[in-house]
Amino acid sequence: MAKEANKHLLFGGVDVVELAERYGTPLYVTDENKLRNNFKGYKNAFETTNIDTDIYYAVKANGNQALLKILASEGAGADVFSAGELELTKLAGIPAEKILFNGNSKSDDDLRTAVESGVRVSVDSVDELRALSAVATELRREVEIAIRVNPDVSPGVHAKIATGLKESKFGIPFHDVIPVCEEAEKLPNILLAGLHCHIGSQILDISVFGEATEKMMALVERVYERGMKIKLKFVDLGGGLGIGYRQAEKATAPTPKDLAEMILPVFEKKMQELGISLKLVLEPGRSIVGASTILLSRVNAVKRAYKNFVAIDAGFNLLIRPVMYDAYHEVVVANKVNERASELYTVVGNVCESGDIMAKDRMLPKVERGDLVAILDTGAYGFSMSSQYNGRPRCAEVLVCDGKADLIRSRESIEDLIRNQEIPARFI
Ligand SMILES: *Cc1c(COP(=O)(O)O)cnc(C)c1O
Repeated sequence: MAKEANKHLLFGGVDVVELAERYGTPLYVTDENKLRNNFKGYKNAFETTNIDTDIYYAVKANGNQALLKILASEGAGADVFSAGELELTKLAGIPAEKILFNGNSKSDDDLRTAVESGVRVSVDSVDELRALSAVATELRREVEIAIRVNPDVSPGVHAKIATGLKESKFGIPFHDVIPVCEEAEKLPNILLAGLHCHIGSQILDISVFGEATEKMMALVERVYERGMKIKLKFVDLGGGLGIGYRQAEKATAPTPKDLAEMILPVFEKKMQELGISLKLVLEPGRSIVGASTILLSRVNAVKRAYKNFVAIDAGFNLLIRPVMYDAYHEVVVANKVNERASELYTVVGNVCESGDIMAKDRMLPKVERGDLVAILDTGAYGFSMSSQYNGRPRCAEVLVCDGKADLIRSRESIEDLIRNQEIPARFI
């Protein structure tokens, strides 16, 4: 018996083969302890200094309510990018004063929601700044803002996740920031409270965070030199810390502690020079949830063709990262973890696209139809980027903790595919 159990992958103390039988596949499974520990890693790294630091979890990475509640209980704030994410965050109990509403294209409705909710807004353009002032005035409320700065630093990551290059759509160009601050100072009901940047995602060379911190602190200095009457309260350096997706990267990937050692000295030095005290805000997404979750998927076919293809029951509708970012995820045959890797396989999804490749050229134990595959580190930008493409209802999500499992999202049904569709009367 014990030997049999040994052949199966355990996750959060649970045999994942049993999870797949109980809840069906495909299935996202999150380990609560891993999630908590990832968040605590940030808290511990930044608590050691006298700089007041807030961690605003980036909700777009994974907006499941159970996960948000866990993070709220650990003291997380939130970075939200839409009225929907704001609502998810509030429902999970994250207080408004710890929420920053981001985005490069906010409608009047978005701005109204933000002002009414009493959250801070990260302003991405002069158009938005003026519109926000008008909305706040109409609502007779003041709103605290940060200016989203485009610091023009190159994070050395995939082009689709570099967000702080001067060519990027995000943020106010570095050299325009001071004039925009001056305009913000004059606009009614706008309280400039912070400067914000986010330079990219999956950053493994963290020296760029040092560069970004230098640039942001130089802006802080300019604000004070100008003798503006505004009192900045915080600098938000965004998220972006990378994680080790490849086995070989796991031991060398930067940690929150490394990030703290890169950022804090620069931050502290400038504050001392200026004789000011600012709060530091960080917005990690991937490094909090990425490694907390696996995607379980059943093998429907093994085909010996140009390559040895393993066709599984999850495609890029559920995990788009390999297709969209050429991302790498480790794959484990979850019911054969003790077996020796003996053959080269390419793991493909069930979507009708030839690009639907989950993992290329992997050495795995001999795979057969009916085997269970676990795709690792899929907690960030996995379910949250899922779709119903190809008429596939989204899968379920389960939370595991110390040997127990709870369903945290039920599988969608065919009714969910047609839920909001309307058939014109003339077709009935
Ligand atoms: C996406 C995003 C984040 C989170 O990025 P990660 O790479 O997941 O840490 C943080 N801040 C902003 C503004 C973002 O757009």
